[in-house]
Amino acid sequence: MSGPGERLDHFMARANAAYYAGCDPFADFITAPEISQVFGELLGAWVAVVWGQLGCPDPFMLVEPGPGRGTLMADALRLVRRVAPACHKAMRVHLIETSPRLRDVQAAALRDATIMPVCWHDRLDGVPDGPMVLVANEFLDALPIRQFVRRGQGWDERFVHDGAFTLAPGDFPARHPARLRPVPEGEVLETCQPALDFIHALGARLLRWPGAAVLIDYGYDAPAWGGSLQALRDGRPADPLLDAGRADLTAHVDFGAIADHVPAGVDVWGSMTQGSFLSALGLAARVEQLARAAPAQADEIRAAARRLVAPDRMGQLFRVMGLSSGLAGDLPGFAGRRAGNGTGRGGTP
Ligand code: SAH
Repeated sequence: MSGPGERLDHFMARANAAYYAGCDPFADFITAPEISQVFGELLGAWVAVVWGQLGCPDPFMLVEPGPGRGTLMADALRLVRRVAPACHKAMRVHLIETSPRLRDVQAAALRDATIMPVCWHDRLDGVPDGPMVLVANEFLDALPIRQFVRRGQGWDERFVHDGAFTLAPGDFPARHPARLRPVPEGEVLETCQPALDFIHALGARLLRWPGAAVLIDYGYDAPAWGGSLQALRDGRPADPLLDAGRADLTAHVDFGAIADHVPAGVDVWGSMTQGSFLSALGLAARVEQLARAAPAQADEIRAAARRLVAPDRMGQLFRVMGLSSGLAGDLPGFAGRRAGNGTGRGGTP
């Protein structure tokens, strides 16, 4: 290849498209809904409460981008059907998924879970108009990033060439919320334009129709820097630049940049830690209920739930951010932690 090589986001997009199309991601890593059914159930309860706060719109769109095996949605819907049948009846489930193979897996997981047929889309824009509740777990971390290295007043950019990074003068996105971050010389700053585009589309939609979204992912909220690109293969860290398409490539989510990109007029909640969020939604009570119902598995049930909330496991690194518009009261789980309403915190259009 001539020039400095392939841009990192192009490389990552290509690698992940091949990976999600051809491999079973869940042989390589395990996500919260796959660890404990309580995760999806609590989010199902969250959806039902938020739907009530929106005035019980019928119909409403229940949207999940990046649904993986469909486990979160299946657990959520089982609970909603039982505790809030009117909400279950009003929902139209729309999944945003680019992998045809995973669409099939999701269809199987959700067979008989809904009254109306589930629809799939490549992008949020494809979801029909109307009030919406959106739930996303580990979606944003899979979106392609670029890495810039601070050089004096400017930036070099990392490109991929023959399985290694090369550096060339970079073209830092002019309107990126992190453009003024005081990154020390030689340090890396990551940008994820598809995540900002997604948030912008989500925010624009919430300005047109009432709704709420919860975004759960590993990442950071304070204005930080440093490279976080990682690859997992067979459950172990692998070299992200080798064997494109054979490992899952992810990066930590910059929740601060995302919050700054939410359009004015949309409420932003958090971000806060997954541990605090799930605890606020009643994780402990639900776990004890399940443990009592299945005494032989009680230890296993409790251990799985601990893994979701313990600070040294997923409780601290994973964060939760909420977005809402037209909602009566506070977004559940955020304990009134409203970060702003389209101030935006940094004001990027
Ligand atoms: N939410 C699931 C799966 C996370 S894995 C869970 O918690 O288990 C990431 C998911 O996002 C996969 O379903 C993958 O196919 C999907 N995905 C990755 N990039 C995408 C994109 N650009 N558009 C839509 N879906 C994408």
